[in-house]
Amino acid sequence: MRLIDLRSDTLTLPTKEMLQASLIAKMGDDGREREGKGEDETVIELEKTAARILNKDDAIFVHSGTFGNMVSLMSHTTRGGRVIVGHNSHIYKSEKGSFDQNILGLEPVVLQTVLGRYNLSELEAELRRGNVAVVCFENTVNFEGGVAITVEEMEIYTDLCKKYNVKTHLDGARLFNSARHLKVNPSSLVKDIDSVMVCLSKGLCAPIGSVVCGSKDFIYTVRKNRKLLGGQLRQAGIIAAPGIIALNKMIDRLDEDHYRAKIIAEGINSITGLSIDLNTVQTNILRVDITSDSITSDYLISLLDTKFSLKVHKISEKEIRICTYHGITDEDAKEAISRLRSCMSEINKEV
Ligand SMILES: *Cc1c(COP(=O)(O)O)cnc(C)c1O
Repeated sequence: MRLIDLRSDTLTLPTKEMLQASLIAKMGDDGREREGKGEDETVIELEKTAARILNKDDAIFVHSGTFGNMVSLMSHTTRGGRVIVGHNSHIYKSEKGSFDQNILGLEPVVLQTVLGRYNLSELEAELRRGNVAVVCFENTVNFEGGVAITVEEMEIYTDLCKKYNVKTHLDGARLFNSARHLKVNPSSLVKDIDSVMVCLSKGLCAPIGSVVCGSKDFIYTVRKNRKLLGGQLRQAGIIAAPGIIALNKMIDRLDEDHYRAKIIAEGINSITGLSIDLNTVQTNILRVDITSDSITSDYLISLLDTKFSLKVHKISEKEIRICTYHGITDEDAKEAISRLRSCMSEINKEV
């Protein structure tokens, strides 16, 4: 049986066009600075493209999203700086380096969120107390089934933070998925955000890399801090060239991933023992609940893998995650539903 791997959109492979672009990319020493930019022409073009699309003054290429978030927070504040994060955010739950005492040593102020949304009065109470350096947001919200935060919600948040003179950072690993779902210009989602990180890998298919965007001064600080953390790049045009294609050509096609996720979600909802909140089915990530009492996610994941050649990702004891991405076809989506159905009917029979 052919393997269908729906664990993550980090499994995407670069397109042929991307690989060809790498071969002919103009390169230079990106770590050698000239007026706030490196000397690799392709990296400069990528940074200009990202800044233009997100309507920010400037941008800087970094090797990963995690690194981009860390270097952004480090550039907004210093060791001990208090950073508001959602309890289920990627920065807080998955990255950790920002809050590790031996690494950046920032102090997390963890607020409970619902589908990635802060409670406004709780957020304001925390801001009013003072001594908050940065507030973090995430869009789409990875661990909440890839839901999108709207332009109006972002405006309310950024207005509130401005009122208390507190910096804002957006983990926009999948910002373009949000923009496609909401049918808005991506720049409208980051209008008043001080800094934003977007991934070129994942749904956009570049093999490596993310971009941080913000004001000229901020990006200059990020450049200095990127070097301090060992993230300075050399002939990075080879990986920036696919990134340019990612931004210019791969954003609109995210709709296909969203469509296939919807197909899978609707299929899952008719399978006994599994369920999914269809209101959260917006982009390319599905959070699936295991409603069957008899099994855990570990058991389901292992049976799907060994017997049905279908890989999915564990969220918790009773939740799994399914992702669609470039390379997962309509056919794969239908086949995945059929394998999930067979697997669950086998489990239901055993009970
Ligand atoms: C993937 C991801 C990141 C980190 O990106 P990497 O390139 O994997 O380090 C950050 N935030 C969210 C929400 C993500 O999904």
